Amino acid sequence: MQLHNLKDSTQQVSFVEAVKTGLGRNQGVFFPDSLNKLSNIDALFEMDFVTRSSVILSHLIGDELPADTVADMVKIAFNFDVKLVEVEKNIYCLELFHGPTLAFKDFGGRLMAQCLAQFNQGEKVTILTATSGDTGAAVAHAFYNKPNIDVVILYPKGKISLAQQKLFTTLGNNIHCYAVEGSFDDCQSMVKNAFLDDEVKTRLGLNSANSINISRLVAQVCYYFEAIAQLPKEQRANAHISVPSGNFGNVCAAMIGAVIGMPVAKLSATTNQNDTVPRFMLDKNWAPNTTLESLSNAMDVSKPNNWPRVQHMLDNDWFSYDSFFSTSVDEATTQTAMKKIQQMGYIAEPHTAIAYQGLKKDLAAGSAGIFLATAHPAKFKDSVEDILGIELDMPKPLADALAKPCLAQDIANDYALLRKELLEKLA
Ligand SMILES: *Cc1c(COP(=O)(O)O)cnc(C)c1O
Repeated sequence: MQLHNLKDSTQQVSFVEAVKTGLGRNQGVFFPDSLNKLSNIDALFEMDFVTRSSVILSHLIGDELPADTVADMVKIAFNFDVKLVEVEKNIYCLELFHGPTLAFKDFGGRLMAQCLAQFNQGEKVTILTATSGDTGAAVAHAFYNKPNIDVVILYPKGKISLAQQKLFTTLGNNIHCYAVEGSFDDCQSMVKNAFLDDEVKTRLGLNSANSINISRLVAQVCYYFEAIAQLPKEQRANAHISVPSGNFGNVCAAMIGAVIGMPVAKLSATTNQNDTVPRFMLDKNWAPNTTLESLSNAMDVSKPNNWPRVQHMLDNDWFSYDSFFSTSVDEATTQTAMKKIQQMGYIAEPHTAIAYQGLKKDLAAGSAGIFLATAHPAKFKDSVEDILGIELDMPKPLADALAKPCLAQDIANDYALLRKELLEKLA
């Protein structure tokens, strides 16, 4: 896979380089120069998830990794289920929360860990990442106790659920966590600053595990194919997928899937009240507001890092603007949607409910609608129990994490402080 920096096309990198570097010059993200269509899509739908995912990833990555190596990596990374559940006639929920940290971030985090293990020849690596809630846990678990790797996670203090937080702040050893006095966007800026800091970058061997990392995006392409494969055959050609979107990595992966030949009639990127993209779609004016706190905190992002990639595919007509929808769902409507879904006999946490709401808004008659369940309801225990008036069972990994003490350290929203910490502790 040949990629270039979307802010500076003279920076050309291979897949391996893009995975190891994370972010390009001038904070530009890397994107493939071209994306070729897969051949024989129908045959792909007959394969099981792991086999098909190996084919898709080999196709995307190209000859930088042997196909049998990719197959081994996929087998280890994707060792849990993807389920498509019909919740209403022709409306399906794609459950992506059956991994170890109960959110879809496990797919990207675990494949990225496999990639770095392949590419890294004993050098010291520090994975520095900001989390809006679920990336932290997925990355921490994927790299926990891996030799030569330290993981530093920044999260907005008090702005993520206790379950989300405890899933990564209780691990210790090579997992170092900081609770930042600020928003996710502030955490994301601190990470970007560190990447611009040559001394920190070199001495720590910095790498980012954010969804700017291309290995995470390609991993996520795979479960969209699985969703289509699990649809009844006659509905496969006319699917409309709604993705609850914050940093826009997940919907970017869906679009990449469409570009390489997955049948998708329409894509909806549905946001919470942090609606930079929905407003941009109306007037083509990029005007991020201050980030607001929402029930769907993993989407409390007003400057989505992956938007340039999505826009690149749209502007180049790789995916039609006419088939791309982006709307925002406010807090009250999120709650109403959760209750509506409950009446159909299904329990959805806020992010999932937002995807459902966005789907219903633009779903055409006769289409098969798919909305993504990006997290297990128990990860948002408090709001789900509050809003739906029920009591949830805690899955074991969550119950275990909740019983352990938080090992995170507080830090002000000040890059100079983080820099000092990192150099003292990890360089
Ligand atoms: C990260 C996350 C999202 C948003 O995904 P993006 O790829 O950042 O758009 C949605 N839901 C949940 C539960 C998440 O953890």
